[in-house]
Order: sequence, then structure tokens, then C-alpha cells
Amino acid sequence: MNQEKQSTVLSELQGSEGSILNDQVLSRHVSHIDHLGIAVSSLSEAIKTYEVLLGGAVDHLEDVEDQRVKTAFFKVGESAFELLEATDEQSPIARFLKKNPRGGIHHVCVGVDDIEAVLREYKEAGIKLIDQEPRRGAHNKWVAFIHPIATGGVLLELSQSGPLKSESTND
Ligand code: ZN
Repeated sequence: MNQEKQSTVLSELQGSEGSILNDQVLSRHVSHIDHLGIAVSSLSEAIKTYEVLLGGAVDHLEDVEDQRVKTAFFKVGESAFELLEATDEQSPIARFLKKNPRGGIHHVCVGVDDIEAVLREYKEAGIKLIDQEPRRGAHNKWVAFIHPIATGGVLLELSQSGPLKSESTND
């Protein structure tokens, strides 16, 4: 890529405010890779496999009705693998498996300390969101998905533990 092209791409990424590539924003809000979401056709089969692969038992099982998925978490350090099985045909995981019959990485989740602030900043930077507002995900965390068109094809999930900052300042 020549330099002129490179600077065009960068300025497109930066948007009008340049906020999305601002180190301060990233270091303030994104603390770690929370988990990798992996679509599987059979959760029970995948659990057996991952117990061998990761050398330990599953840490957490949960149905997330809102997302029409059954999940199993395996902790790895401060991150985790989240295995996801669809509970019906309308599930995003069912749609993913139609395109990718062997399963695969469905999303990457990063932990943030103030999900509402991050969503606000993304909106200002013109980043395309799937969820305009945070909603409840697994582990009762607040989550929101960012559209893959904004992230080089990766479905990005934001996740925050504890109450929303807007709620905690109200009481
Ligand atoms: Zn997830």
C-alpha cells in the first residue's frame, strides 16, 4: 500500500474526530479480552472436547434466552472460551452454522469499565453498532455487539460487570 493510500485509510478509520484511534480512549475503556465466542452444533460434545483441549472442567453453564443460546464457559487466565449452541432456528448461532457448518469463532468479547461511554464514543466516531444500548448477557453482565462492518469482519462484543454507570450515579 502506498503512503497516500495508507493515510486515506487511516483518516477514514479515524473519522472526523479521530477519536477511535485515540490511545487514551482505548486504554481507559478496554481492559482485557473477556472471551472468545465459539459456535458449536452440540454443546455436550464440544464440552467434552474442550475439557481435553484445555485440561480442565467447564466453569459455567448458562442459557441466554435473549440470544437463543446455551453457553459453556472455560476460564483461561483472565479470559475464557465461550461455547455457544443455538436453542432454535432464529438464533444467531443457527444462522452462523448455516454459513459455517463446522462452527468456528463467532465473536470476540472485550471487557470495558463503562459500556455506555464506549457506545457513546463509538456512535460519535460513526462506528456501526448492532446494539444501540447495553443489554443483559451471560453472567448477568451488560453487553453490546458492534457490527462486523466496523471491525474488519469480526463480530465484537463489549462486556461490563456490575451496574451501569448511569444507574449507579442515580442512587
Ligand atoms: Zn460472548
